Amino acid sequence: MGKVLIIGAGGVGTVVANKVAQNSDLFTDILLASRTKSKCDAIAEDVKKRTGVEIKTARVDADIVPELVELMNRFKPDIVINVALPYQDLTIMDACLEAGVHYLDTANYEPKDEAKFEYKWQWAYHDRFKEAGLTAILGCGFDPGVTSIFTAYAAKHHFDEIHYLDIVDCNAGDHGKAFATNFNPEINIREVTQKGKYWENGQWVETEPHEIHKPLTYPNIGPRESYLIYHEELESLVKNFPTLKRARFWMTFGQEYLTHLRVIQNIGMARIDEVEYNGQKIVPIQFLKAVLPDPGELGENYTGETSIGCRIRGIKDGKERTYYIYNNCSHEAAYKETGAQGVSYTTGVPATIGAMMCLQGIWKKPGVFNVEEFDPDPFMEQLNEQGLPWHELFDVDLEL
Ligand code: NDP
Repeated sequence: MGKVLIIGAGGVGTVVANKVAQNSDLFTDILLASRTKSKCDAIAEDVKKRTGVEIKTARVDADIVPELVELMNRFKPDIVINVALPYQDLTIMDACLEAGVHYLDTANYEPKDEAKFEYKWQWAYHDRFKEAGLTAILGCGFDPGVTSIFTAYAAKHHFDEIHYLDIVDCNAGDHGKAFATNFNPEINIREVTQKGKYWENGQWVETEPHEIHKPLTYPNIGPRESYLIYHEELESLVKNFPTLKRARFWMTFGQEYLTHLRVIQNIGMARIDEVEYNGQKIVPIQFLKAVLPDPGELGENYTGETSIGCRIRGIKDGKERTYYIYNNCSHEAAYKETGAQGVSYTTGVPATIGAMMCLQGIWKKPGVFNVEEFDPDPFMEQLNEQGLPWHELFDVDLEL
């Protein structure tokens, strides 16, 4: 029995609202709060139609700690699911400490004025959460999130030591737009335009953006050009699995997408600093977000599927073995169930399961933790129950 506060009413917030409502035996009281209350109201109305469950709504500016604390003291949630933007992670964590509430998010903190994501800011909260007897679960979407739990599951059940990890993320969906991002455009473009980086032999190796790429074959999809990029879960995985000799992250991009991205960068529209326009200060990437398709609206005509997984090589009983664990998610099925597309779905479902684990006391330990630091088994069971079934392949050619 638990009270949950969801912060953020975008694509991911839509899925979380649906999923907690579908599990209303556990989430007995639900409040959805965001900067624009009308978006919360629209989601609540739709969830009511789909599930019959009543969701309360509120307006909150999650950049302002006292506003958050006031809301938390009024509603008294057991846990906050933070699916606003990475910029709000620290203010929401501060408010959780002040109000005595457990915390969960899906993306690590980023300062607004620097396109850089690192766990150091959030890991620095460990002692304060520990002393307060509160649990903070970091990065509980799909990647980060399920990919780290897949790795923990592989290490627990199938290997004595894992040596090589390649996280492979393919979106083979088609939304029919010339250019759109699958989640918040500002965060997405900041992520994919930065330099590549991977872990090898105890150190980070940096590459130019999209410098390393190769076709990889995805189940039920086929070969897709996949690009090595830096992704935040690599930072915690190499720390928590010190036997890793190499850890990399690959994401598929279509040629059309990359061409648009190159133009956006070359003409300065990906800039995150302020420029003067008509006597007003604007940040180009924020202006770009305003004219691009809203990722939350892509769902209706989205066809195809995503395929995200981990390809792992290591040692079991003295012998080398390979292992591939993955989930495929259909955009159409996600939209039919929740009104949101597959990328929001694959993020919102794990966030809901993580909150479930915490409320049930299964993933509850005072401090700040990445998801791979908890027991993967009960979470893996719930993935199958809640709409993200996974599959395993043993001793196959990993192509990497
Ligand atoms: P959206 O941009 O669609 O939604 C973000 C929501 O947060 C909006 O409702 C927005 O309000 C709200 N918000 C922004 N700033 C504030 C604020 N200061 N106070 C209160 N609310 C605020 O993003 P998505 O739903 O696509 O993504 C949500 C999160 O999920 C992001 O952090 C993203 O990085 C993460 N993510 C994680 C993935 C994973 O696999 N781990 C994959 C995809 C996304 P408004 O409507 O007023 O703008």
